[in-house]
Amino acid sequence: MSNQNKETLGFQTEVKQLLDLMIHSLYSNKEIFLRELISNASDAADKLRFEALHNKEFAKQDPNLAIKISFDKDANTIQIADNGIGMSRNDAIKHLGTIAKSGTSDFLKRLTGDQKKDSQLIGKFGVGFYSSFIVADKVTVETLKAGETEAVKWESDGSGEFTIETISKPSRGTTITLHLKPEANEFADDWRLRSIIRKYSDHISLPILMHKVETPISEEDEKNKEEAKAPKEIEWETVNTAKALWTRSRQNISDEEYKEFYKHISHDFSEPLSWSHNSVEGKLEYTSMLFIPSKAPFDMYNREMQKGLKLYIKRVFIMDKAEEFLPMYLRFIKGIVDSSDLPLNISREILQKDHVVSNMKSALTKRVLDMLTKMAANDKDNYAKFWAEFGQVLKEGPAEDFANKEKIAKLLRFCSTKSKGAAQDQSLEEYIAHMKADQEKIYYITAETHKAAANSPHLEVFKKKNIEVLLLSDRVDEWLISSLRDFNGKAFADIGRGELDLGKLDSEEDKQAKESSAKEKESLLKRITEVLKDQVEKVQITHRLTESPGCLVINENDMGIQMRRIMEASGQSMPETKPIFEINPNHPLITRLDKEPDEDRFAELCHIIFDQSNLAAGGKLDDPGSYVKRLNKLIVEMAD
Ligand code: ADP
Ligand code: MG
Repeated sequence: MSNQNKETLGFQTEVKQLLDLMIHSLYSNKEIFLRELISNASDAADKLRFEALHNKEFAKQDPNLAIKISFDKDANTIQIADNGIGMSRNDAIKHLGTIAKSGTSDFLKRLTGDQKKDSQLIGKFGVGFYSSFIVADKVTVETLKAGETEAVKWESDGSGEFTIETISKPSRGTTITLHLKPEANEFADDWRLRSIIRKYSDHISLPILMHKVETPISEEDEKNKEEAKAPKEIEWETVNTAKALWTRSRQNISDEEYKEFYKHISHDFSEPLSWSHNSVEGKLEYTSMLFIPSKAPFDMYNREMQKGLKLYIKRVFIMDKAEEFLPMYLRFIKGIVDSSDLPLNISREILQKDHVVSNMKSALTKRVLDMLTKMAANDKDNYAKFWAEFGQVLKEGPAEDFANKEKIAKLLRFCSTKSKGAAQDQSLEEYIAHMKADQEKIYYITAETHKAAANSPHLEVFKKKNIEVLLLSDRVDEWLISSLRDFNGKAFADIGRGELDLGKLDSEEDKQAKESSAKEKESLLKRITEVLKDQVEKVQITHRLTESPGCLVINENDMGIQMRRIMEASGQSMPETKPIFEINPNHPLITRLDKEPDEDRFAELCHIIFDQSNLAAGGKLDDPGSYVKRLNKLIVEMAD
């Protein structure tokens, strides 16, 4: 053959790493290689069918799409052949030598070297074609792309390089030959292959064919057969059900089938947490199968994350990643939708404007939210798992989807002063149920970390009065609360911002005490303001503290810390804002301050208390050096 066309190329570094990881972590689950290769063959057939909508030639030649699986016990090989779209030379180099998924190198950086942990990570990644090397020490791919004349052969032993050369191949599609490792020879077996196909790939809508086996009736028959040796035409038979899974009725589909179908369409290795399969008839006609994964993909916050549903129109595969059927905050949902209303020649551009699509989008969104609502009510454990993986993304919902704000709000879970540790385990409905008789607001505090929120001095008066406060430390929280505004008629109130108005929760005595101490300490407040005037908006007597000497409060109209960080991260320069400094007149440190006659020492003390108040709320000091110097000076004086 034309050897000048033979090239030896290296795998992308990431492929090499992934191959190593896979071979080591999947040795106990070797058989999944077949599922992956069948899944690819099925995708290739889908793509061919789609191309054939525009190119009638494709439909005419070799029209019966199927996957053929055969083996040779003596040679210890397995072949998986399809007549799908095939690959060009460039396709093969690109798809079988690199990993296109965005964020792969980040993913690989997270590997720990601990096999148990890493094998869970690989579940998040999906294994695909390279899983061939779990069982094979050499893999040969011969492929001819539809509409082209030059076929190629790709070959590799998986150790770092592959070769690619031009060959002749009579018909369109891809044939993969696995040269099995000696210890994987169990797979070159009719019964074994059939059972793996039925277990993992029954749902594939394409027929998966294997040689028909004639069970010998008697020993004599066997002998006759041997003697005859007539070159018999090979007969193939279908091993799987070969019907699009979503067209079958729910009652006849087992959980296992749903799970395997999920793995096929999602390229995910782990099982889904839940699913919903539904056919709609009437004005709109479509079938949907929606899955909630059990693990968040590693690239959930990557713009190029694989999101969207697989779109079929009247059973014909149209496109992957159709993003128009679900909102962004549900981008983790995997699944298919098969429409009877859309035209087969629909394009992505038209999808974006089509009213059928937007109607389907609201119906599918509702379906997902209902599925989650049900799970939250009936299966708390699973819902907690869901929340841990996807809660952050769902929190984007109220801002994006105003129409479903109430529904989403009920699905949210927060950490509060009543939670177990840092767990986000409280719903807003539970918060309302815990509210004091006179309580009018849902109180929350935001900080950069859970610890900073949980130990914030701002909580002191709430602890004293036993009022629950939501502890918010996720980046999106401030944004979330600002889009929620209220829940069940109760407004949200940030306890670290503006005037603290406890409404009826404050007793008359409390109020009077505050007023009188404000008057009493007027001169002290003036002295402090004089010292800190460049750093604070104003100084006032606190209603919030019982144990700490002071705290910082954000002005009612200023941006919160999280919001500021988000804006700063996006490259915007933020205007300087000054906090309000509140002091606790009953704290011994403040009493001591009040009595300090020396103005220099008074100023030093003011700065220290101010900086400490900032630190206690998880803030950062502008000038930590000076703070440390002042504090050290004080300690030395104490020792004198
Ligand atoms: P994935 O299926 O998630 O894309 P794989 O590793 O399984 O990842 O496959 C990589 C790519 O190789 C596929 O996306 C496809 O482009 C190509 N490919 C693999 N198998 C075939 C096949 N039988 N026919 C055509 N293309 C294939
Ligand atoms: Mg694949």
